[in-house]
Amino acid sequence: MGFTASGQLAYPHRTMRKPFIAILCVVVASLLPAGTANAARAAGYPIRNADALTSSPLYLTGRLPGSPCPEPPVRAGDVASVKSYLLPLVRCLDGAWAAQFRKARIPFVKPAVRFITKPQRVCGGQWGQDVQALYCNTDHEIVFMLDRNVVDHPEDLFLMNVIAHEYGHHVQNQAGMWAAFDNLPSASKAEYYEQTRRHELQAECLAGAFIGSVWASLGRKGKDWRTLLADDRASGDETAAVRDHGKGRNMANWLNRGYRAAAPGGCDTWTAGSAAVA
Ligand SMILES: [Zn+2]
Repeated sequence: MGFTASGQLAYPHRTMRKPFIAILCVVVASLLPAGTANAARAAGYPIRNADALTSSPLYLTGRLPGSPCPEPPVRAGDVASVKSYLLPLVRCLDGAWAAQFRKARIPFVKPAVRFITKPQRVCGGQWGQDVQALYCNTDHEIVFMLDRNVVDHPEDLFLMNVIAHEYGHHVQNQAGMWAAFDNLPSASKAEYYEQTRRHELQAECLAGAFIGSVWASLGRKGKDWRTLLADDRASGDETAAVRDHGKGRNMANWLNRGYRAAAPGGCDTWTAGSAAVA
């Protein structure tokens, strides 16, 4: 996928378990200044000139509340059961992030969440091939495709990570980080993709922060967490045509960093060195 005439860039987020699962994040990107590369307009790396990204009040809000979020039982192969599994998790995410935004004194509106079982037009575009979920920043909506890929394998932490990652994009949107990312100048595709990786790795880290904050109530074992990290490691940009989400080890590193911090303060990908977001 690439740039469309309207300047919209759609790109998939590869699976965290199987190569054929992907998560799409739709970004309304500013058009690259093609052919007019201008070093003075470059954002600089790490990012230094966008306070919403590097000095967000969200980073100072400490740990997420960690209210209990027990996982409902889930039955493989049953769409209704997977939906009943995910909806309470969404309510946990609503509560956790609403509390965090209150601490940061930033207004917060929870996202809409929609489940679909067949491709349909979402966010003004066709549902892409191999897309598992997406966040539409203009509609403030998470759309989750409940296809066989996930419905037949709902028992590990993959589903929770997908919903928490897309919710992470909503957090970025509500905190003004999405707009700041959109407005970052980039003088080349390489710069643009590095910025995109910072944006995606931050969403992955915010997912880890949420999961870390509720871990004690999940009744999961360390092995489950290590499996999720291994899935991230196996689904990085090494497996993709476009370097927009980060190497597998960086995806796993940021997910784990968020998990250990259980706080958004651990998720400033914008001031990290380039190697950490490669
Ligand atoms: Zn994403």
